[in-house]
Amino acid sequence: MLQDMAVGRLENEYRNISAVSEDRILCFREGQVLLSRGAEDGLTLPTLSLMEIGEGARAPRYLFRLQEENYFLWTDSAPAEPMDGFAYEPVRTLRQLKSKEVCFAIMTGWHLYNWYRCNRLCGCCGTATEHDSKERMLRCLGCGNMIFPRINPAVIVAVTDGDRLLLSKYAGRAYTRFALIAGFTEIGETLEQTVHREVMEEVGLRVKNLRYYKSQPWGVDGNILTGFFCDAEGSTDIHIDENELSMAAWYPRHDLPAQDDGISLTREMIRIFGEGKEPK
Ligand SMILES: [Zn+2]
Repeated sequence: MLQDMAVGRLENEYRNISAVSEDRILCFREGQVLLSRGAEDGLTLPTLSLMEIGEGARAPRYLFRLQEENYFLWTDSAPAEPMDGFAYEPVRTLRQLKSKEVCFAIMTGWHLYNWYRCNRLCGCCGTATEHDSKERMLRCLGCGNMIFPRINPAVIVAVTDGDRLLLSKYAGRAYTRFALIAGFTEIGETLEQTVHREVMEEVGLRVKNLRYYKSQPWGVDGNILTGFFCDAEGSTDIHIDENELSMAAWYPRHDLPAQDDGISLTREMIRIFGEGKEPK
């Protein structure tokens, strides 16, 4: 999965430090990120030394340290014209194995960027917020409201029936590949209850024997995804919610129409079911 390379190499506690010339810069603009696409499609983020810092520019904000490099968020206005060798590319479609580290940094930085961007003013009283000096937290200068980073919990569910796996496709989305059942946790429910509710809502099935598999930070959408396997209980007749899904069907373990892309939890879960290695 995308984040696997970061295990033991991501230091994400907040540090109140300033950027120096060799630090990496994440500069976002209108859903795009500034980067250089080099030989064999390898991706490189600019260092501070390549950025033009205008008079009175806001200082970059420290984000995290990954693989011995510091990453900062460009908080001043993004350059309209990228420097030589660089271009803006859409964050949402940047998934590639070759530059997993850069893609992970972009996704994680994008998640933080959106949190900062959406919390410049307090949601309670509308006053400007300022960054705490010790932790990643924004504090309202008017009412003292404390705003911590927001992560949305969601489930990914592999519903099985013996040697069959339920695969589906989303309705009305650009993403047209096979997917597993997925949905957000509502306030007041457990992750397990989310699994039961989402499976019933989307395909009309009851499930049992929930087994947690793994989780995945998915910064493009600000989520933490939690993967579960479970077994269909009772009738295995599918009744899809056509607002959510365009199709859903059972596929045999030995003939699953989806490949692991090395990036997403969904694809890894489909692969390990195909190999018979899912938690039993
Ligand atoms: Zn306030």
